[in-house]
Amino acid sequence: MEMNILIFGPNGSGKGTFGSIISEKFGIPQVETGAIFRENITKGTELGKQAKSFIDKGELVPDDITIPMILTRLQEDDCKKGWLLDGFPRNITQAEVFWAALQKEKITLEYVIELEINREVAKKRIMGRRLCPNDNNHPNNINVKENLPIEKDGKLLCRVCGREGLLTRADDQDEAAIDKRHGIYFDTNTGTLAAVRYFKERVKVIQVDTLPGVKEVSSHLFRLLT
Ligand SMILES: [Zn+2]
Repeated sequence: MEMNILIFGPNGSGKGTFGSIISEKFGIPQVETGAIFRENITKGTELGKQAKSFIDKGELVPDDITIPMILTRLQEDDCKKGWLLDGFPRNITQAEVFWAALQKEKITLEYVIELEINREVAKKRIMGRRLCPNDNNHPNNINVKENLPIEKDGKLLCRVCGREGLLTRADDQDEAAIDKRHGIYFDTNTGTLAAVRYFKERVKVIQVDTLPGVKEVSSHLFRLLT
């Protein structure tokens, strides 16, 4: 059976982390829409050229360019066993058009995963992220109990390698930008949560609370996905 999955979750829900865990477990690629844009632009495909003209003007790429790009990606060889799509659709209109396009291409959708987290908690998690200069994959977060950095002589050290001088990313401290993105996600009328509700009427939606640790949430997800 194919494992074609859409994954939803607000910034700060650990969507990237859980996405790569699922991708590895089931041997399916984690397809991220930003990466699809970059690949099409780099390769100079017709759709890539069209997308670039909008990006260069600082405008959003229209759905009639984005959706064909995604469909092409989902039909590549590495997606034969399935795929995990991340970052699309973001609103109810995109959900409707995307669903119709999947039907037309006879592409099935087995599961939709919804990672649940309280909006304020998600914001705290984003703002608490600290980067290790040695390795971006060393998890450090001053607002997440299981990822607290080591405190020594009033300094914070990487919990994995002990490196001093943990960094913050400017994006992670930009409250206005975080609020704007969360505003779109948590909008149940036309935003991303409206898209999730649209799928609930059509596909099996797996809702998972992301507050327990990564291990608990992952094993819960694996049980529900098989
Ligand atoms: Zn480190």
